[in-house]
Amino acid sequence: MPAYKRILLKLSGEALMGDDAYGINRATIVRMVQEVREVTQMGIEVAVVIGGGNIFRGVAGGSVGMDRATADYMGMLATVMNSLALADTMRQEGMTARVMSAIAIEQVVEPYVRPKALQYLEEGKVVVFAAGTGNPFFTTDTAAALRGAEIGAEIVLKATKVDGVYTADPKKDPEAKRYARISFDEAITRNLQVMDGAAFALCRDQKLPIKVFSIFKPGALKRVVQGEDEGTLVHV
Ligand code: UDP
Repeated sequence: MPAYKRILLKLSGEALMGDDAYGINRATIVRMVQEVREVTQMGIEVAVVIGGGNIFRGVAGGSVGMDRATADYMGMLATVMNSLALADTMRQEGMTARVMSAIAIEQVVEPYVRPKALQYLEEGKVVVFAAGTGNPFFTTDTAAALRGAEIGAEIVLKATKVDGVYTADPKKDPEAKRYARISFDEAITRNLQVMDGAAFALCRDQKLPIKVFSIFKPGALKRVVQGEDEGTLVHV
Protein backbone atom coordinates (compact mmCIF):
# COMPACT_ATOMS: atom_id res chain seq x y z
CA MET A 1 0.00 0.00 0.00
CA PRO A 2 1.39 3.41 -0.92
CA ALA A 3 1.92 5.77 2.02
CA TYR A 4 1.33 8.88 -0.13
CA LYS A 5 -1.12 10.06 -2.76
CA ARG A 6 0.98 12.89 -4.18
CA ILE A 7 4.76 13.30 -4.04
CA LEU A 8 7.33 15.81 -5.22
CA LEU A 9 10.49 14.08 -6.37
CA LYS A 10 13.67 16.14 -6.57
CA LEU A 11 16.33 14.63 -8.81
CA SER A 12 19.76 16.20 -9.02
CA GLY A 13 21.09 16.99 -12.47
CA GLU A 14 24.33 15.25 -11.57
CA ALA A 15 22.53 11.97 -11.07
CA LEU A 16 21.77 11.94 -14.81
CA MET A 17 25.48 11.77 -15.70
CA GLY A 18 25.87 8.18 -14.51
CA ASP A 19 29.58 7.48 -14.89
CA ASP A 20 30.02 10.11 -17.60
CA ALA A 21 31.84 13.41 -17.00
CA TYR A 22 28.86 15.56 -17.97
CA GLY A 23 25.55 15.47 -19.80
CA ILE A 24 22.87 12.81 -19.80
CA ASN A 25 23.73 9.13 -19.65
CA ARG A 26 21.11 7.19 -21.55
CA ALA A 27 21.07 4.02 -19.44
CA THR A 28 20.94 6.10 -16.24
CA ILE A 29 17.97 8.24 -17.27
CA VAL A 30 16.05 5.17 -18.49
CA ARG A 31 16.66 3.37 -15.20
CA MET A 32 15.52 6.42 -13.21
CA VAL A 33 12.37 6.76 -15.28
CA GLN A 34 11.57 3.08 -14.77
CA GLU A 35 11.79 3.60 -11.02
CA VAL A 36 9.35 6.51 -11.33
CA ARG A 37 7.05 4.46 -13.56
CA GLU A 38 6.77 1.81 -10.86
CA VAL A 39 5.39 4.31 -8.36
CA THR A 40 2.99 5.91 -10.86
CA GLN A 41 1.65 2.41 -11.50
CA MET A 42 0.79 2.25 -7.80
CA GLY A 43 -1.58 5.17 -8.42
CA ILE A 44 0.65 7.82 -6.83
CA GLU A 45 0.63 11.29 -8.38
CA VAL A 46 4.18 12.31 -9.17
CA ALA A 47 5.66 15.75 -9.75
CA VAL A 48 9.37 16.09 -10.47
CA VAL A 49 11.90 18.87 -10.14
CA ILE A 50 15.22 18.17 -11.78
CA GLY A 51 18.48 20.09 -11.32
CA GLY A 52 20.96 21.15 -13.93
CA GLY A 53 24.34 20.45 -12.39
CA ASN A 54 25.26 17.93 -15.11
CA ILE A 55 25.14 20.75 -17.67
CA PHE A 56 25.67 24.03 -15.84
CA ARG A 57 25.66 25.19 -12.26
CA GLY A 58 25.55 28.93 -11.73
CA VAL A 59 27.44 28.90 -8.46
CA ALA A 60 30.20 26.55 -9.66
CA GLY A 61 33.58 26.89 -11.35
CA GLY A 62 32.39 27.17 -14.95
CA SER A 63 30.87 30.53 -14.16
CA VAL A 64 33.82 32.11 -12.33
CA GLY A 65 33.94 35.78 -13.25
CA MET A 66 30.43 35.71 -14.66
CA ASP A 67 27.66 37.89 -13.39
CA ARG A 68 25.94 35.61 -10.86
CA ALA A 69 22.40 36.26 -12.07
CA THR A 70 23.38 35.52 -15.69
CA ALA A 71 25.09 32.31 -14.60
CA ASP A 72 22.01 31.33 -12.64
CA TYR A 73 19.76 31.88 -15.65
CA MET A 74 22.07 29.57 -17.59
CA GLY A 75 21.67 27.04 -14.79
CA MET A 76 17.90 27.32 -15.01
CA LEU A 77 18.02 26.78 -18.77
CA ALA A 78 20.09 23.65 -18.10
CA THR A 79 17.22 22.33 -15.97
CA VAL A 80 14.87 22.89 -18.92
CA MET A 81 17.06 20.61 -21.07
CA ASN A 82 17.07 17.94 -18.38
CA SER A 83 13.31 18.26 -17.93
CA LEU A 84 12.71 17.78 -21.65
CA ALA A 85 15.01 14.76 -21.69
CA LEU A 86 13.25 13.30 -18.68
CA ALA A 87 9.76 13.82 -20.09
CA ASP A 88 10.76 12.35 -23.42
CA THR A 89 12.29 9.30 -21.77
CA MET A 90 9.03 8.93 -19.86
CA ARG A 91 7.15 9.04 -23.16
CA GLN A 92 9.39 6.29 -24.54
CA GLU A 93 8.69 4.23 -21.44
CA GLY A 94 4.93 4.50 -21.98
CA MET A 95 4.19 7.27 -19.49
CA THR A 96 2.55 10.65 -20.03
CA ALA A 97 4.53 13.62 -18.78
CA ARG A 98 4.17 17.37 -19.06
CA VAL A 99 6.95 19.91 -18.65
CA MET A 100 6.06 23.27 -17.14
CA SER A 101 8.63 26.03 -17.01
CA ALA A 102 9.04 28.82 -14.47
CA ILE A 103 10.61 30.91 -17.26
CA ALA A 104 8.55 31.61 -20.39
CA ILE A 105 10.00 29.75 -23.37
CA GLU A 106 6.68 29.25 -25.06
CA GLN A 107 7.85 27.60 -28.26
CA VAL A 108 9.62 24.90 -26.30
CA VAL A 109 7.64 24.25 -23.16
CA GLU A 110 4.42 25.39 -21.57
CA PRO A 111 4.55 27.89 -18.72
CA TYR A 112 3.96 26.87 -15.12
CA VAL A 113 0.33 27.48 -14.23
CA ARG A 114 -0.62 25.99 -10.89
CA PRO A 115 -4.24 24.92 -11.67
CA LYS A 116 -3.06 23.25 -14.85
CA ALA A 117 -0.34 21.40 -13.00
CA LEU A 118 -2.95 20.18 -10.51
CA GLN A 119 -5.20 19.08 -13.35
CA TYR A 120 -2.39 17.08 -14.98
CA LEU A 121 -1.59 15.38 -11.70
CA GLU A 122 -5.25 14.47 -11.18
CA GLU A 123 -5.23 12.98 -14.68
CA GLY A 124 -2.33 10.75 -13.69
CA LYS A 125 0.26 12.59 -15.76
CA VAL A 126 3.73 13.19 -14.39
CA VAL A 127 4.48 16.91 -14.16
CA VAL A 128 8.10 18.00 -14.53
CA PHE A 129 8.75 21.49 -13.19
CA ALA A 130 11.53 23.11 -15.21
CA ALA A 131 13.62 26.28 -14.72
CA GLY A 132 13.69 26.00 -10.95
CA THR A 133 11.89 28.84 -9.19
CA GLY A 134 12.51 31.13 -12.17
CA ASN A 135 14.71 33.32 -9.97
CA PRO A 136 18.48 33.60 -9.71
CA PHE A 137 20.16 33.07 -6.32
CA PHE A 138 18.02 30.01 -5.68
CA THR A 139 18.50 26.31 -6.34
CA THR A 140 16.32 23.49 -7.55
CA ASP A 141 16.08 22.26 -3.94
CA THR A 142 14.13 25.44 -3.21
CA ALA A 143 12.05 24.92 -6.34
CA ALA A 144 11.21 21.42 -5.07
CA ALA A 145 10.12 22.76 -1.67
CA LEU A 146 8.14 25.59 -3.28
CA ARG A 147 6.32 23.49 -5.87
CA GLY A 148 5.83 20.71 -3.36
CA ALA A 149 4.04 23.14 -1.04
CA GLU A 150 2.05 24.70 -3.91
CA ILE A 151 0.67 21.43 -5.24
CA GLY A 152 -0.05 20.04 -1.79
CA ALA A 153 2.44 17.19 -2.03
CA GLU A 154 2.57 15.17 1.16
CA ILE A 155 6.33 14.84 1.04
CA VAL A 156 9.42 16.05 -0.82
CA LEU A 157 11.63 13.15 -1.84
CA LYS A 158 15.18 14.28 -2.30
CA ALA A 159 17.09 11.75 -4.35
CA THR A 160 20.83 11.95 -3.76
CA LYS A 161 23.95 9.84 -4.16
CA VAL A 162 23.95 8.97 -0.46
CA ASP A 163 21.09 6.88 0.97
CA GLY A 164 20.12 9.31 3.71
CA VAL A 165 21.38 11.74 6.32
CA TYR A 166 24.29 10.41 8.39
CA THR A 167 25.82 11.36 11.74
CA ALA A 168 29.05 12.10 9.83
CA ASP A 169 30.26 11.84 6.23
CA PRO A 170 30.02 8.08 5.55
CA LYS A 171 32.82 8.34 2.97
CA LYS A 172 35.23 9.66 5.61
CA ASP A 173 33.96 8.07 8.80
CA PRO A 174 33.27 4.29 8.83
CA GLU A 175 31.42 4.72 12.14
CA ALA A 176 28.89 7.11 10.58
CA LYS A 177 25.28 6.05 11.17
CA ARG A 178 22.23 6.79 9.07
CA TYR A 179 19.30 8.50 10.77
CA ALA A 180 16.08 6.63 9.98
CA ARG A 181 14.21 9.78 11.02
CA ILE A 182 15.13 13.14 12.44
CA SER A 183 13.11 16.26 13.23
CA PHE A 184 13.72 19.59 11.51
CA ASP A 185 14.82 21.08 14.84
CA GLU A 186 17.25 18.26 15.56
CA ALA A 187 18.75 18.55 12.09
CA ILE A 188 19.39 22.26 12.79
CA THR A 189 20.84 21.58 16.24
CA ARG A 190 23.17 18.94 14.84
CA ASN A 191 24.06 21.16 11.91
CA LEU A 192 23.12 18.48 9.37
CA GLN A 193 22.88 19.48 5.73
CA VAL A 194 19.60 18.09 4.40
CA MET A 195 18.67 20.53 1.64
CA ASP A 196 19.87 24.05 1.03
CA GLY A 197 18.87 26.59 3.67
CA ALA A 198 15.97 28.23 1.84
CA ALA A 199 14.45 24.85 0.87
CA PHE A 200 14.84 23.50 4.38
CA ALA A 201 13.22 26.58 5.94
CA LEU A 202 10.29 26.47 3.53
CA CYS A 203 9.59 22.79 4.21
CA ARG A 204 9.86 23.37 7.95
CA ASP A 205 7.47 26.35 7.86
CA GLN A 206 4.98 24.47 5.73
CA LYS A 207 5.30 21.28 7.78
CA LEU A 208 6.25 19.45 4.60
CA PRO A 209 8.35 16.39 5.44
CA ILE A 210 11.46 15.54 3.44
CA LYS A 211 12.81 12.09 2.68
CA VAL A 212 16.45 11.83 1.63
CA PHE A 213 17.27 8.61 -0.20
CA SER A 214 19.50 7.20 -2.94
CA ILE A 215 18.13 6.99 -6.46
CA PHE A 216 20.99 4.61 -7.28
CA LYS A 217 19.68 1.92 -4.97
CA PRO A 218 17.34 -0.27 -7.05
CA GLY A 219 13.77 -0.21 -5.76
CA ALA A 220 14.53 2.49 -3.16
CA LEU A 221 11.94 4.94 -4.51
CA LYS A 222 9.26 2.25 -4.32
CA ARG A 223 10.20 1.39 -0.75
CA VAL A 224 10.13 5.08 0.16
CA VAL A 225 6.60 5.60 -1.15
CA GLN A 226 5.49 2.51 0.73
CA GLY A 227 6.69 4.19 3.91
CA GLU A 228 9.43 1.62 4.53
CA ASP A 229 12.68 2.24 6.42
CA GLU A 230 14.71 3.59 3.52
CA GLY A 231 16.81 6.75 3.61
CA THR A 232 16.09 9.43 6.21
CA LEU A 233 12.75 11.02 7.02
CA VAL A 234 12.97 14.63 8.17
CA HIS A 235 9.76 15.32 10.06
CA VAL A 236 8.14 18.19 11.93
N1 UDP B 1 19.03 27.94 -10.44
C1 UDP B 1 18.57 29.21 -10.11
N2 UDP B 1 17.33 29.35 -9.54
C2 UDP B 1 16.52 28.30 -9.25
C3 UDP B 1 16.99 26.99 -9.58
C4 UDP B 1 18.23 26.85 -10.18
O1 UDP B 1 19.27 30.19 -10.32
O2 UDP B 1 15.41 28.49 -8.75
C5 UDP B 1 20.33 27.77 -11.14
C6 UDP B 1 21.51 27.82 -10.21
O3 UDP B 1 22.57 28.46 -10.90
C7 UDP B 1 21.85 26.34 -10.03
C8 UDP B 1 21.51 25.77 -11.40
O4 UDP B 1 20.37 26.52 -11.80
O5 UDP B 1 23.21 26.15 -9.71
C9 UDP B 1 21.22 24.30 -11.44
O6 UDP B 1 20.42 23.90 -10.38
P1 UDP B 1 20.98 23.04 -9.16
O7 UDP B 1 22.38 23.48 -8.81
O8 UDP B 1 19.97 23.08 -8.08
O9 UDP B 1 21.05 21.61 -9.81
P2 UDP B 1 21.52 20.20 -9.17
O10 UDP B 1 22.59 20.48 -8.17
O11 UDP B 1 20.32 19.61 -8.49
O12 UDP B 1 21.95 19.38 -10.34
